[in-house]
Amino acid sequence: MYFGHFAIGVALKACQPKVSVWPIMIGVGLIDILNGIFIIAGLDIVTPDLKALPYLYFDLTYIDWDHSLLMAIIWSSLFGLLFWRKSRRTAIVAFIAAISHFIVDIPLHNSDMAIFPTSQIKIGMGLWGSHPYNSWVLEILFSIILLGYGYVKSRKEGINILPQLVFITLVIIQMSPWLSPMKIVAKLGNPYDYLLHGVLVSVGFIAPSLILILLYKRSYSRVKAIN
Ligand SMILES: [Zn+2]
Repeated sequence: MYFGHFAIGVALKACQPKVSVWPIMIGVGLIDILNGIFIIAGLDIVTPDLKALPYLYFDLTYIDWDHSLLMAIIWSSLFGLLFWRKSRRTAIVAFIAAISHFIVDIPLHNSDMAIFPTSQIKIGMGLWGSHPYNSWVLEILFSIILLGYGYVKSRKEGINILPQLVFITLVIIQMSPWLSPMKIVAKLGNPYDYLLHGVLVSVGFIAPSLILILLYKRSYSRVKAIN
C-alpha cells in the first residue's frame, strides 16, 4: 500500500485531534521509510520486475528487517516509546499509526512479509499479484472512505482539510500504474535500480508526510486566527 497509508493518517488525526500530527504522519510511513534506508544499506533486497503492478515495478525479495511481523511490532513500539514522556495518548496513537502500516499491507503484498527475519513463514494475501489494476482501485476506495471520514469529522471541529485531500489525490494520480516513477527506475540496471528504489521509497514517505504536516499546521492556525 502507498497512498492508503496517508489516508489512515488523515482518519487517525481526525479521530484524535488533540494528538500532534507529526507522530501520526511519520508513523504511518515509518516502516517504509526504514525499508528504503535498509534497501540502500543492502540489508533488504528488491528485484526489478516490470510485471510487478500496480506501481512498484519491483519484487520485494527480502524485506524482513522492516516488513516482518516481529520487526513491525518492535519498530512501532520503539516509535511509540519516543512519545511516552510527552503523553501516553500520543505514544499509543504513534504506535497504532506505525503498526497500521504492516496490517494494511497484508492484503496487497505478494507473500513477502515474514513472521520474523529469515523466517520462511510468509504472509501477504497477494492482491497486487492477483488483481494488478483492481488492487490500485481498491486502495483508492479504501482511501476515499478514510478521507471522507477525516473530512467530515474535522469539519465538525471547524478544521478544513480540503488542501490535504487535494494533495493526496495528486499523490494517487502520480502513483498510478501509468505514472509511477518506479517504472523508469526498474530499467536503470544494477546498482542504480535498487539504490534509487530505496531513495524513492524513503523520500516517497518523508516528503508527502512533511507536506501534510505543514498543511495541518496551516489548517489549525486558520482556526486560531478566526477565534
Ligand atoms: Zn509497506
